Amino acid sequence: MEKPAAAGGNPVRETKLYYGHQYIDETDVQAVSEVLRNGDLTCGPKVNALEKRLCELTGAKYAVVCSNGTAALHIAALAAGLGEGDELITTPITFAASANCALYCDAKPVFADINPRTYNIDPKCVREKITDRTKAVVAVDYTGQAVELDALLALCREKGLLLIEDAAHSIGTKYNGKPVGSIADLTTFSFHPVKTVTGGEGGAVLTNSAQLYEKLLLYRSHGITRKDDLLERKPHGAWYYEQIDLGYNYRITDIQCALILSQLDKLSLFSQRRKEIVERYNKAFLSCPELFVQEEIPASDTTRHLYILRIVPEKLTIDRKGFFEALAAENICCNVHYIPVYWHPYYEKLGYEKGICPHAEKLYTEMMSLPLYYGLTDKDVEDVITAVKKIVAYYRI
Ligand SMILES: *Cc1c(COP(=O)(O)O)cnc(C)c1O
Repeated sequence: MEKPAAAGGNPVRETKLYYGHQYIDETDVQAVSEVLRNGDLTCGPKVNALEKRLCELTGAKYAVVCSNGTAALHIAALAAGLGEGDELITTPITFAASANCALYCDAKPVFADINPRTYNIDPKCVREKITDRTKAVVAVDYTGQAVELDALLALCREKGLLLIEDAAHSIGTKYNGKPVGSIADLTTFSFHPVKTVTGGEGGAVLTNSAQLYEKLLLYRSHGITRKDDLLERKPHGAWYYEQIDLGYNYRITDIQCALILSQLDKLSLFSQRRKEIVERYNKAFLSCPELFVQEEIPASDTTRHLYILRIVPEKLTIDRKGFFEALAAENICCNVHYIPVYWHPYYEKLGYEKGICPHAEKLYTEMMSLPLYYGLTDKDVEDVITAVKKIVAYYRI
């Protein structure tokens, strides 16, 4: 049997592979240069063009682009009317921003457990956490797989809640044939460099509601408006504008929008390649009883952002940390997405205790994210598979 590098053998490869990386080509560089040479740097035509493009891509009626995915969640929560004393239900297996957006509004994040096979928030667990104070649900399309939107929307309608879909992982994903972005009351995207499409930084909120759209515009830019029908006083002249609410500067530059537009031209390529890699990994790992492969729901046609390698600890002599380190020794550098949000010291100090969501906590102790991005070569993918199989074979019980 071949020895893993962690046990004194040779690594499967000499150069390090990381879990994610952006893909920037010459057309991206040209798109950005063009704005720098000729364009407005902010509040210009690329902002409008990107909003229009996101509507075309998703079928949403309105899009508001903003500085990042966290800002998108914040203005979505504000538009949903979240305030002091309100509750927002979300998953613990997410980036902290999905829950922090409630805290920004002086509201309380409440955590509902995941489905242990798909890893997405379980609508039944959401139902159990609803109280008189619940105002919204932030459902995260974890790894890119759409949440159970039909069940969640039905539940939100029944209880009078707004559904915010955190689609930071899932641009390009379809649910029952409809693109993510057109389905929930509000959908947020992130254009951070590890996400499928990047602007360096960037975010967006999509909605079909004209009312929510007006609010998003206000919160993105200081609560300031020039729209006649929103003004509370008589204009002093053509320069007149009013601040009618408290908003933020969450604007995005035209430079970033140009990059995101150029990246969106490659979305179907990105999507295709990510699907191919996921298929190869699945095919290789489905036959290993020491590994658990994330279950896919038929309703989701998924553009995968993350590939989760989950070990079955009872069948191995090493734990997740040992597996993670053994992969690193092979020069396959994974990451872990995510530490349950309420385990963080800040949340602990707010009074959250371990044990609230047992499925989420168990998943956390058994998983790591393998390399998954457009620029991976077939050889890279083979190296990852070889390394995983070598480690499984050596440490199986
Ligand atoms: C990346 C991410 C965010 C935050 O997006 P930023 O653009 O980094 O602010 C929010 N939610 C999830 C699930 C994410 O992965």
